[in-house]
Amino acid sequence: MMATTARDQLYGTYRCPVCGHRDAIELSADESSRILDCSYCDTALEVTTRGRDAVRLAVQVVGEAA
Ligand SMILES: [Zn+2]
Repeated sequence: MMATTARDQLYGTYRCPVCGHRDAIELSADESSRILDCSYCDTALEVTTRGRDAVRLAVQVVGEAA
């Protein structure tokens, strides 16, 4: 059994695939992905959760896949 302290928030970390900068993000429970800019290299990234309990986030560069 896993205790969850986050109520409606999912907290995870991601790594920028461009510069390798690591950062953290909080997503709300009904938010499966978010587009943001890397705070280090300013690349637009799409961070996607892999489920409610996932702490590992999938990251891809926005616009890279055509
Ligand atoms: Zn970056």
